[in-house]
Amino acid sequence: MTPELTPKKRLFNALNDRPIDRIPTFCSGCSQTVTLESMEEIGVYWPEAHSDPRKMAELSASTYDLTGLEIAGVPFCLSIEAEALGCFTEIGSRKDSIPQVTGTPYTDFEDVKVPDDLLTAGRVPVILKAINILKEQIGDTLPIVAGMIGPFTLACYLAGIEPMLKGLIRKPDKYMGFIELATEVGAIYGQVLKKAGADVISIADPSASSDMISPRMFLEIVKPAITSIVDAIDGSSFLHICGNSTPIIRDMAETGVDAISISDKVDVKRAKQLVDGMTKIMGNISTTVTLTLKKPVDVLADCRKAIDAGVDILAPGCGIAPMTPNENIRALVEAARSYNLTSRTINHNGSS
Ligand SMILES: [Zn+2]
Repeated sequence: MTPELTPKKRLFNALNDRPIDRIPTFCSGCSQTVTLESMEEIGVYWPEAHSDPRKMAELSASTYDLTGLEIAGVPFCLSIEAEALGCFTEIGSRKDSIPQVTGTPYTDFEDVKVPDDLLTAGRVPVILKAINILKEQIGDTLPIVAGMIGPFTLACYLAGIEPMLKGLIRKPDKYMGFIELATEVGAIYGQVLKKAGADVISIADPSASSDMISPRMFLEIVKPAITSIVDAIDGSSFLHICGNSTPIIRDMAETGVDAISISDKVDVKRAKQLVDGMTKIMGNISTTVTLTLKKPVDVLADCRKAIDAGVDILAPGCGIAPMTPNENIRALVEAARSYNLTSRTINHNGSS
C-alpha cells in the first residue's frame, strides 16, 4: 500500500500527470474559501479577519479542518490591489461582509497613484503576513493559495466599469493605458505573493467574462495581459473567469496557466475537448444552487457527475458563498474520496 498523499502532493501530482490515489479538491473561484459556520465554530469572524493576518490565517485554515476541502487560501475578497492603488473600498461591518470596491477617483490612467512600495500599501502587508503564517504552520501539507485580481477586472476598478467598456471602443488608447497599468501591477503583485510563500497564485478576472465582453476583446486585450502576468509569476498559476467561459476557454488555456476554474455554466466535456490537454480543468460545482441550497446527498450526486464528465480537480465553480453549510462542502470532499478513478474511462481530450 502506498501511503496516502498529502493534499498538496496530490494537487501537484494531478497538475503534473503523476500518479494520484484520488481526485484532488480545491477552490479557485473568486477568492473566497470560508463559511459563516466555520467562523462560529472557531470564533474568528469577518470583518476583523479581512484586516488581521493572524485571524485571516486561522480562518483560512479552518476550511480544511472543518470541511476537508484541500486548500488554505487568502484573501477572502477581490479588492486588495484596487484598494492599494487608491480605489474606494468598503470592508463592511457584518460577519458576512466581503470587502467591495465601491468606486474610483480616476478618469485618466496617468493619475493612478501607484505606491512606491506595493508591499506596504493598503492591506497587502496583511495578506503577505497571513501567507507567511499559513506556510509556516501547514505549508507542508496544504497548498497555500493567494488570490489576485485579474488585469481586466483591476483595470475596470481603476477606470470604472462603464467608462472602461465604452472607452475601449471610443478611446482605445486612453483605456488601454489602464489595462497596461493593471498588467504591470499584477505582474509585480503575483511575484510578491509567490515570494511570500504562496504555492499557487489564483487569478480571478470576473469582468473578463463572456457575459461582459466579446470573445474577440478577450483574445485581443485580456489574453496578452494575463499571459504576461502568468509569465512574470513563473510558478503555479490558476485562472478563474465566472459564467459561461466556453467561447474563451481555449484562449484561457493558452495563457499558460496550470489549471482553469470553470463555473457550472460550462460543459465539462466540451471544456476538456477545447483545452486539449494544454491545462487542467477544475470545477464546476454550482455555488449558488448545489452548495448552498441542496442536501449533501444531492451535492454528492452532482459532484460524481462532474468527475464522470472529466474534471481534473473537483471544486466549487466560483468563490464559496459564506452561508454555504459545511456539510455540503464535506459532501464535495466525500465525492472525491469515494470515487474510484480507475473506473473513469475519460481521457485528457474529453473523449471516452
Ligand atoms: Zn467566479
